[in-house]
Amino acid sequence: METILFLAHTQSDGVLPKSALETLNAALEISGKMPGVSLTVGLIGENVQGAADAVAGCGAQKFLAVEGAEFGVSRYGSDVAAAEALARQSGATLILAPGTSRFSRALPGVTQRLNGRIETHVSGLECAGDALKLHRWYYRKRMEATLTRTQRPWFVLVDAGVFPAWEGVAGSASLEKVEVVLNDDCKRTQVVGFEAPTSDAQTIRPDAELLFVAGAGWTKKQPDGQIHIKEAEELILNFLKKSKASLGSSKSLVDQSCEGGEVLTFMSHLNQVGQTGSTPRHPKGLATCCHGEEPHVVGWRFINERRAISTDPNCGWAIGKADVLYVADAFQVMAKVNELLEG
Ligand SMILES: Cc1cc2nc3c(=O)[nH]c(=O)nc-3n(C[C@H](O)[C@H](O)[C@H](O)COP(=O)(O)OP(=O)(O)OC[C@H]3O[C@@H](n4cnc5c(N)ncnc54)[C@H](O)[C@@H]3O)c2cc1C
Repeated sequence: METILFLAHTQSDGVLPKSALETLNAALEISGKMPGVSLTVGLIGENVQGAADAVAGCGAQKFLAVEGAEFGVSRYGSDVAAAEALARQSGATLILAPGTSRFSRALPGVTQRLNGRIETHVSGLECAGDALKLHRWYYRKRMEATLTRTQRPWFVLVDAGVFPAWEGVAGSASLEKVEVVLNDDCKRTQVVGFEAPTSDAQTIRPDAELLFVAGAGWTKKQPDGQIHIKEAEELILNFLKKSKASLGSSKSLVDQSCEGGEVLTFMSHLNQVGQTGSTPRHPKGLATCCHGEEPHVVGWRFINERRAISTDPNCGWAIGKADVLYVADAFQVMAKVNELLEG
C-alpha cells in the first residue's frame, strides 16, 4: 500500500506553478486508482498558506509545510533540507513533484539521502492494482519506456504539459508546519535577485497556445531576386509580440549563423525543433517557409492542429502532415495576419 506525497514549491508570487497543479492531478489520478493509498500535500515556500488554501479541496488527508524567507528562493541546500523533512514527516513511499528546474536540481540529492530512487521527465503514469508503472522518453523522445520499481521512497518528477492542471475548489487548509533548521552550509549560496530577458527577447514560451516555426525560406532569395532579412525579422517579431506564440526554428535556419549566412538575430539553437532539437507541446502549430521532414515529423509529434505556409505546393511534409496548407508567400500572409491582429 502506497503513501503518496504531492510535493511542490511556490513561485515568487506565492502561488503554485501550473506544472505543480498538473502534478497534483496526476497524484489524484493514481491515488483514486490504487487501493488504500493516502495522499499528503507538502509545500515549500516563504509563506504557503495561500497556495495550500488554493488546493484545499483536492481531498488530501494532510497538508505539511516548510515555510520561511529562506525557503522562498531556489537554492539547493535549503530545498534539499526542506524536501527531505517533508518526505520523512509524511512517511511517503511515492513522492510526486513537478519537474521544475528547482526540483530537478534538488530532488536527486534528497533521493540519495533517503536511499530512494528517482525518475525524471516522467510522461505518463499507469496503475495496475497496487502496482504503479511510469512512462519516460529516451533518445530525444523517439523511444518510450515503461518502468516500475520496488525500491522506496520513489521520487517521480513529472514533465510539464503531460496532465491537465487541477481546477478544483479552494478552501481553508489546516497546515502542519515542519521545522527545518538550516546550518551554515545550507545557506552558503545567497540568492540576490533575478535577471530575466526582456519579454521580446524571450521567444521560447512553453505555455503558449501556438508554436510558430520559421524555416530557412525566410532568409532565401525571394521572387524579386533579393533577400529580405530585416523585413522577415520585423514580421516574425511583430507576430510573436501580438500572438504571444512560442518561436521554433528549423535546423537549416539556426545553422546559418555558423555557416556565415545572413541570420535572424533573435534566433538561436535553443529554438530548433526536430530530431536533433526539441519536441515542444502546444495545442497548435504554424510552419512558415519550412520544408524539412525532421522538424515536423519528430518536432511536431505533440502538436495537435497543424498549419503551414509554403510557396512549394509539393512540399512532402505539408501535404502529408499539415491539416491546412496555404500555398502562398509567407511574407504577404504574415503581413496580413499582423494587420488583422492590430485591429
Ligand atoms: C540526422 C538529421 C537530423 C536532423 N535534425 C533536424 C532537426 O532536428 N530539426 C530540423 O529542422 N532539421 C533537422 N535536420 C535537417 C532537415 O533534414 C532539413 O534539412 C531542414 O529541416 C530544412 O530546413 P528548412 O525547411 O527550414 O529549409 P529548406 O529545406 O531550405 O526549405 C525552405 C522552404 O521555404 C519555402 N519558402 C521560401 N520562401 C518562401 C516564402 N516567401 N513563403 C513561403 N515559403 C517560402 C521554400 O519553398 C522551401 O520549401 C536533420 C537532418 C538530419 C540528416
